[in-house]
Amino acid sequence: MTIRVTIWNEYRHEKQSAKVQEIYPEGMHTPIASYLQGQGMSVRVATLDEPEHGLSTAVLDQTDVLTWWGHLAHGEVSDEIVDRVQARVLAGMGLIVLHSGHFSKIFQRLMGTTCNLKWREAGELERLWVVAPGHPITEGLGEYFEIPQAEMYGEFFDIPQPETLVFVSWFAGGEVFRSGCCYQRGQGRIFYFRPGHETYPIYYQDEVLRVIGNAVKWAAPVARPPVQFGHRPQGSMSG
Ligand code: ZN
Repeated sequence: MTIRVTIWNEYRHEKQSAKVQEIYPEGMHTPIASYLQGQGMSVRVATLDEPEHGLSTAVLDQTDVLTWWGHLAHGEVSDEIVDRVQARVLAGMGLIVLHSGHFSKIFQRLMGTTCNLKWREAGELERLWVVAPGHPITEGLGEYFEIPQAEMYGEFFDIPQPETLVFVSWFAGGEVFRSGCCYQRGQGRIFYFRPGHETYPIYYQDEVLRVIGNAVKWAAPVARPPVQFGHRPQGSMSG
């Protein structure tokens, strides 16, 4: 079955900064959307400044996996939309949170912690080590891959212990970071993936796109009957 992906991008840096515009003239969402389309997925883009941030109930109902990139304007995301996204995750929608999305309302809500971290913007080398070999999110990767110029994120990263830790990053400046973290909340799968600063062309890199594609496939809901709650009559085992 075709996976239906909605790529959510705050889409402000690209409109405000000439440097970012040069790297992502059509927005950071565009190379991700093109790649996922090339993987046979059905892709839609939604951005902060659209009505309901592009995330109407109808859109979310038709979304199997939502990806999230935000940075400047986390506070402008309405609580009503955060409630709506959370409810969809609990009901089985997958969520891929990218880079500075660590500070988004939806990620903090689902994690229950501050999601704070250390950072430094110095264009340094990042090496992402695969620490869950054989995990579906690592399909097609080697032992590690490198991003030549990255913003550093360092530990301690204030998240709950990941249910599966898929990547650990090492930075040339000496820090390390849990860069690929899997969770389940309700029936929904969540993957946090660190790469993707707006002033580096990271969302054009093969390995990064491959991980996002693998993560979307991993997080897509499985076919199942609706979950039943509430009173259960006696003797219903036989029925
Ligand atoms: Zn950044």
